[in-house]
Amino acid sequence: MFKFLSRAPLHDATATAPAAVRETKTTTCYMCACRCGIRVHLENGALRYIDGNPNHPLNQGVICAKGSAGIMKQVSPARLTQPLLRKPGSERGAGEFEPISWERAFELLTERLQTIRSTDPKKFALFTGRDQMQALTGLFARQFGTPNYAAHGGFCSVNMAAGMIYTIGGSFWEFGGPDLDRAKLFVMIGTAEDHHSNPMKIAISKFKRAGGRFISINPVRTGYSAIADEWIPIKPGTDGALFMALLHELIAHDLIDRPFLERFTNAPQLVILDECDREGLFAFDPDPTKGPPGDGRHPHNKLVWDLPSQSVRAAYPEGIADGCEPALEGRYTLPDGTRVAPAFQLLRERVASCTPEWAAAITGIAADRIRKLARELGDTALKQAFELPIPWTDAWGKVHPTTQARPVAFHAMRGLAAHSNGFQTVRSLAVLMSLLGTIDAPGGFRHKAPYPRHIVPNYRAFNDPDLIKPNTPLNTAPLGFPASPEELAVYADGSPIRIDHAFSWEHPLSAHGLMHNVISNATKGDPYRIDTLLIFMSNMAWNSTMNTLAVREMLNRKHADGQYQIPFLVVCDAFQSETVAFADLVLPDTTYLERHDVMSMLDRPVSEFDGPVDSVRVPVLPITGQCKPFQEVLIELASRLEFPAFTTAEGTRKFKDYPDFVVNFEAQPGIGFLMGWRGKDGTEHLRGAPNPNQWAMYAKNNCVFQHHLPESMHYMRNWNRAYLDFAKDKGWRQKNDPVQLAIYSDTLQSFRLAAQGKSTGRQPPDHLRQRIATYFDPLPFWYPPLEEACTDLAAYPLNAITQRPMAMYHSWDSQNAWLRQIHSHNYLQVNPLTAKAAGIDDGGWCWVESQWGRVRCMLRTSEAVEPGTVWTWNAIGKADGAWQLAPGSDEARKGFLLNHLITEELPFATASGASGTISNSDPITGQAGWYDVRVRIRPASADEADETFPQVNAHG
Ligand code: SF4
Repeated sequence: MFKFLSRAPLHDATATAPAAVRETKTTTCYMCACRCGIRVHLENGALRYIDGNPNHPLNQGVICAKGSAGIMKQVSPARLTQPLLRKPGSERGAGEFEPISWERAFELLTERLQTIRSTDPKKFALFTGRDQMQALTGLFARQFGTPNYAAHGGFCSVNMAAGMIYTIGGSFWEFGGPDLDRAKLFVMIGTAEDHHSNPMKIAISKFKRAGGRFISINPVRTGYSAIADEWIPIKPGTDGALFMALLHELIAHDLIDRPFLERFTNAPQLVILDECDREGLFAFDPDPTKGPPGDGRHPHNKLVWDLPSQSVRAAYPEGIADGCEPALEGRYTLPDGTRVAPAFQLLRERVASCTPEWAAAITGIAADRIRKLARELGDTALKQAFELPIPWTDAWGKVHPTTQARPVAFHAMRGLAAHSNGFQTVRSLAVLMSLLGTIDAPGGFRHKAPYPRHIVPNYRAFNDPDLIKPNTPLNTAPLGFPASPEELAVYADGSPIRIDHAFSWEHPLSAHGLMHNVISNATKGDPYRIDTLLIFMSNMAWNSTMNTLAVREMLNRKHADGQYQIPFLVVCDAFQSETVAFADLVLPDTTYLERHDVMSMLDRPVSEFDGPVDSVRVPVLPITGQCKPFQEVLIELASRLEFPAFTTAEGTRKFKDYPDFVVNFEAQPGIGFLMGWRGKDGTEHLRGAPNPNQWAMYAKNNCVFQHHLPESMHYMRNWNRAYLDFAKDKGWRQKNDPVQLAIYSDTLQSFRLAAQGKSTGRQPPDHLRQRIATYFDPLPFWYPPLEEACTDLAAYPLNAITQRPMAMYHSWDSQNAWLRQIHSHNYLQVNPLTAKAAGIDDGGWCWVESQWGRVRCMLRTSEAVEPGTVWTWNAIGKADGAWQLAPGSDEARKGFLLNHLITEELPFATASGASGTISNSDPITGQAGWYDVRVRIRPASADEADETFPQVNAHG
């Protein structure tokens, strides 16, 4: 009977509702890479809301808009829920798929990968986006036997990581950061909203309340900068010039920490000046038992000049013994007649011409302001210094009764890094911090375990082409830190081993690979053709690539016989991104609320200044549809392909699933993915046998393990005897020797010597000699971004940059029903003076043109951007119909990507007549030069459509 004919009430207001079952579970957020602890509140098993976990050390209960909007990610209509195979006969990009079972997907993949692995393993390429499991993905590639692996770092911030690590042994974000509890002056450069979001907000708010002074240096005043005491606008790509001028001023006014430089850096170490095969390298004791320094393996066999005795001494231990006064300045002659100078003398000479006036013309910052800033930095570091009553002993046995604070803290990120001059810029900042003595010092920059690393870290990238063999794991990981030309991944003729050309002479120190060049190189077959490209969680057909339209075309490009130039494309993602439509095989990933994950000390933990911290995600919701965590996919494939590390001696499968792998895999005895609750009964921490109940222990303890080091290990960890011994014992470093700061980089010089033909050993191809010789300068320097050399700067007078909005994390969140209400489309933000000069009104449509492409978009005027720069939020614009957004949504009609204006390759020519193209990247690290593009703007005409250009349909 129909209800409306019934006598029964439609709704009985007096009835008692069945008691709701409410539960709260803890896990770790993944709405951005910050990794805050969260509480997930469930009612009858369904997600009701998410808040911050007050018992988590990282965010202490704070949650941001993104974090609380996780519920909308979970129920997003864009979720992929079953494996999909491209329909026979359909074109890539059309998004025509048929559902298949996981078993069929595994069969397909296993068969294909088995064939590749047993013939030519390098024909499989695995590139992952902003994942947090590189210890696993890297292991998978290594066990497969392919060098063609990297995560997203090459197009994100590898310059920040490498520039700092090659100079001070650590870097910002999860590797270290500003000690705002003790700083008096905080200088933030090139950072809007970053990866350390909630902790940074908490720290800045405390710092400001305590009376600290906060200066933001940035072309744009957004994000954290909104509450800075002072905003110093700067032109993009010129930060290095500012740092060089600050170095000039600090040295000229002796506002430097000389005792620190003498004892804890290579500033006093003697550099050979004579022309020879060791020109520009450090002089050393020829005793054959000590070995030459330079490749990171004998870093301490160097010399200093002792001023009282006017004689040469070994840098260690005599050079730091009481009574020795190593010279920082001057030029000297060794007993064998070799002319030498302390590294600091060369730095002093380098910055002599970098006056504030010189920098003012480049940066747009007035010379007087630069002078004032230098004085403020020096005065705060040296004259407002204080000591903490924390005794510590250095690596050479000297007991320091107190710990010296240097209360100037810096923080910098992608604004410095994403330029083709970013490595040297970041290096100049690290040298500046070192001169102020503010490295792992109270109030300054502080490391987080497992940092500091050695300089150069003892992780060498795979580099021997003869060791790429069928059915054989590589002898080492695909990624690492080269210390000399001998460690490059090149063939005998100097050509690249890797598909992305990482660790080649084009980009020797590309520690994170060059994901942004994989598709172009694979399409060209440069240096060879691959068979299968597996992309995880990266939107390479849209916002994660330069030159978006061309890359989409490349994904579809075919040979004359009709075969795709990239024969098989596998995409694993949780959402229907623009890239999914191009896949031959789609693997549906879970959300972060449905799976296990680790933020591991083997990878990228969430450590705090006072000790290591790792954390996990545990499933708090059942898996949606047939989704499967990518980690499980890798474990399954590794087991089916019988990788040695995943197979028992009897030939059977070693790990049941990913949680089992995390618990039982040991990188070395007692060291696994998780450091908490180890040992059979869970009573051992940091090191111990696998514990079968480890996941349960984490789940019971807010999904986080924190180890507090004793106070004597909180600072000066590059040289802190107790910490160095402890870190070695816990497997965080191979040796317990000190990490002297590299004011002068003999590593860079070794590449330059090869390029100049002065050293024996590996030599670059001739067409790259000049490039290497120019940019591998052992001292920091500033040069204009490379794109400027091929740009008519008068025709394209403006810099164009993007920033990540505080409310969204890349393309993930511009489909989130809550967050879309904050930004459903983006504008080009332009200074009112610049807009007026171009004749464009606030809210008007305009064209933005570079020499590579053009977009039409809406303009907003803003005083919070310097007049020579235009900018927009990244990744909000969408292809029409992608991410299951309704056709004609704001994201597609009004949103736009700046990526259309950026090229992934630059023309390349040499004096000897060679020409071609080369990645639009930093010549040292391969970091994508996202922020180097130059543009002009003009009004759109009245008869043009009120929609962005180009309009792209997600399905062809
Ligand atoms: S900052 Fe990032 S990790 Fe933290 S709550 Fe927000 S989205 Fe989540």
